[in-house]
Amino acid sequence: MRRLPPLAALGLCLLLAAAFPLRAAPLTSPKEHFGFAIGDDYHLATYTQTEAYFKRLAAQSPRLRLVDIGRTEEGRTQWMVVASSPANLARLERLREISRQLARAEDPDESRARALAAEGRAVVWIDGGLHSTETVGTHQLIETVWQLASREDAETVRILDQTVVLLVHANPDGQELMSSWYMRRAEPSKRVMDQLPRLYQKYAGHDNNRDFFMSALRESANMNRQLYLDWIPQIMYNHHQSGPAGSVVAGPPYRDPFNHVYDPLVMTTLDAVGAAMSSRLNLEGKPGYTQRNGSVFSTWFNGGLRTTTYFHNLVGILSEIIGSPTPSEVPLVPARLLPNGATPFPVTPRPWRYADSIAYSLSLNYAVLDFAARHRDALLFGIWRMGRNSIERGSRDHWTHYPRRIAAIQEAHARDNPPVRSGGAEEDESSASAAGRRRIPARYFDDVLRKPELRDARGYILPADQRDFPTAVKFINALLKTGILVHRATADFSVAGKNYPAGSYVVKTDQAFRPHVIDMFEPQDHPNDFAYEGGPPIAPYDSAGWTLAFEMGVKFDRVLEGFDGPLARVPWGELQAPPPGRLAPAAAGWRISRATNDSFTLVNRLLRAGVEISVATEGGDFHVPAAARAALEPLAEELGVTPVPLETAPAAQRRLERARIALWDRYGGSMPSGWTRLLFEQFGFDFDVVFPPQLDAGGLRAKYDVIVFPSGAIPRASGGDGGSGGYSAVREPAQSEMPPEYRGRSGRFTAAKTVPALRVFLEAGGVIVTVGTSANLAHHLDLPVRNALVETSGPRRDQPLSREKYFVPGSILRLSLDPSAPATAGMEREADVYFDSSHVFRLAPEAVKAGLRPLGWFSSAAPLRSGWAWGQHHLKDGVTAFEAPVGQGRVFVFAPEITFRAQTHGALKLLFNTLYRAAP
Ligand SMILES: [Zn+2]
Repeated sequence: MRRLPPLAALGLCLLLAAAFPLRAAPLTSPKEHFGFAIGDDYHLATYTQTEAYFKRLAAQSPRLRLVDIGRTEEGRTQWMVVASSPANLARLERLREISRQLARAEDPDESRARALAAEGRAVVWIDGGLHSTETVGTHQLIETVWQLASREDAETVRILDQTVVLLVHANPDGQELMSSWYMRRAEPSKRVMDQLPRLYQKYAGHDNNRDFFMSALRESANMNRQLYLDWIPQIMYNHHQSGPAGSVVAGPPYRDPFNHVYDPLVMTTLDAVGAAMSSRLNLEGKPGYTQRNGSVFSTWFNGGLRTTTYFHNLVGILSEIIGSPTPSEVPLVPARLLPNGATPFPVTPRPWRYADSIAYSLSLNYAVLDFAARHRDALLFGIWRMGRNSIERGSRDHWTHYPRRIAAIQEAHARDNPPVRSGGAEEDESSASAAGRRRIPARYFDDVLRKPELRDARGYILPADQRDFPTAVKFINALLKTGILVHRATADFSVAGKNYPAGSYVVKTDQAFRPHVIDMFEPQDHPNDFAYEGGPPIAPYDSAGWTLAFEMGVKFDRVLEGFDGPLARVPWGELQAPPPGRLAPAAAGWRISRATNDSFTLVNRLLRAGVEISVATEGGDFHVPAAARAALEPLAEELGVTPVPLETAPAAQRRLERARIALWDRYGGSMPSGWTRLLFEQFGFDFDVVFPPQLDAGGLRAKYDVIVFPSGAIPRASGGDGGSGGYSAVREPAQSEMPPEYRGRSGRFTAAKTVPALRVFLEAGGVIVTVGTSANLAHHLDLPVRNALVETSGPRRDQPLSREKYFVPGSILRLSLDPSAPATAGMEREADVYFDSSHVFRLAPEAVKAGLRPLGWFSSAAPLRSGWAWGQHHLKDGVTAFEAPVGQGRVFVFAPEITFRAQTHGALKLLFNTLYRAAP
């Protein structure tokens, strides 16, 4: 079929609906369109074919409407198919408005909310294909569109009448790559899913499911717009693979911890939908559903496509199903055979076909849709109630119960009531008086938990005069992309005795999506979670802490009282630009501070345009000559960077030059490398991506000035310590099986070949920068540092600390920096960094003599800012960033994840500062 532009396709669809109101046009089945049925062994559809099918079916069916929700990173159109009854589609705008109004809950009148709930239709999101190797996702989506368009049974008709279904393709680029890769072999039995040559999302690969509070990727921004601005559905269902071995599918409810900032109704509605899903399978005789502790998924994290919904009062569902177009089997796992609360109806070993996965997925989708159809008005009213709860909590004094504060009650009571000793022996713990002593008087609740200073913030103010305001604006834009209500000051104002300039942003907590606001500004307090008392910690499913305002280094004030000012509402989702930078006349050019991240963008663009830039020997500020005014002015305006005019040029200066930058990657694609690539593009750094064969071939100094190794690039050295995390070798096909364009990417970093080549590069004056776990390079190069996280006495002396004593999963920690080092220019003395079991060093005695310079270290015994840091006192005085000379060159080691998922804007300058050459 000829490709129609989106509007033309929509017009055609409306035209057909109008022309054939009674008798629908014949519908094309998937088998007729693709040449195989969805679920046939050894067959996958590409996105090109899928897109054509959606267009074809939408043109034929009066139940479907096709909506273009934006471009993907590779430039494809991302489609959403809206399925509902023709009568509902005829008043779709009204139904959408009802859905949004109830979710935002700005009208406090309950009777009007009930009337809207009665008039509206439940809105349910079903997506597929986010993770492209999990091919059931895309294919159940195609089959679901087909079934909703073609089935005439009473249940389907009721679903279409009572609900609006948003069927969203979550990753078009990835389906095109994955399906073409699988189908490239003519012989079906030779087709394989794995060994994919590159990331299935251009920058993030699998991490595309960690981007939903940041919206750094186009696909996330497109979907967030539908979820939190355009539609705000009450239920969203996000499809994944694979179920735990010995099960068929994992789904809701999920294991603890759940996040204490949610409204309880979102979790109990999730329980109800989960029960509908598992009951449906049981009713149909389909075994193998597992829930709660039957799988690893929790509801703690924000940032997943599914999990960000909870912070917006949406019922988010994730399922993980088994299956592949290549036939497989359900293995024998004895521990899974006994029915229990996690797995009420265990599956037994059996062959498993792709069609089984599709049939299960359809049953689960129908369970969710049937639930929504039957409870339509309750769902619509429920999201209004949750929104009102949020607004009310944000309009008065309210205290969130954090684990640490609850522990403080027990500590205060224990302090006031030391154990009574009688006759030298401790009192029998089982006695009645001991029981009375353990009962904590209710006054501790008020005394400890209800202190005025522990109240939740009523709002947050981001002053416009902070040192890197353009980055604060990027943070505000991340909030706007997820439907948060933001205000902007139209004049100077003051709150609680502090003055704020016009242009400052205010985010109040009396809004429906209050949990998301709290989560983006406040520390996550991950509960201490252990297998048993004194036992090993249970790792969180993803990060333990991620407070975006901390990650981005944004300055804000928390306000505990109600406040107001000359505040204008920013229209929903309207992205903000920083105030234009102004160029004052200057005799000797301008000084540009490194405090602003976008100063680097500006400088990179000027260098690319051939402007000569120098740097002050002291402090490292950039100096742009007066002659460059014409080039500088529009950039300063666009980026919100205000250059400081100079009357005389700085005395001691060096000329700044672009460095020739190489960024490591590998066959299959590394996610940290991909995120770094995105940052380099955002900030205007030119670079080459290099693969192991190019590094091993040597001759690097002739080609490059700087080589960047993102986290996961460099494996542990023998005898090295800590943090191998993130490094896993990728399975590669034989060279003969590899498409020619990927042949130069094979192999991996090795001590035998890569390290000597890097040493030659360094000795000849090259610079190497390592991020995250690639700090392993310090040991490969025998730099004078040791693991700081070791036992200091006893029989295990010098052995790494056990997890029972020290465990810091992905969390935000406060780091002290040496502000006088060129590598920290533009940073303050302290910074919040994302730390994930990262390397922590102590210097060897010979370190200072060898010229090693610490750049960042923990000066506190309690550096945790957000997340979970068990045994954090062990970090004190540990060095986690340093530079060291090797021959004529230098190595910069940044062990924290300073480029993490392109979110950590507060630490990016540490990397950026190393990416230039300065000539005398
Ligand atoms: Zn997945």
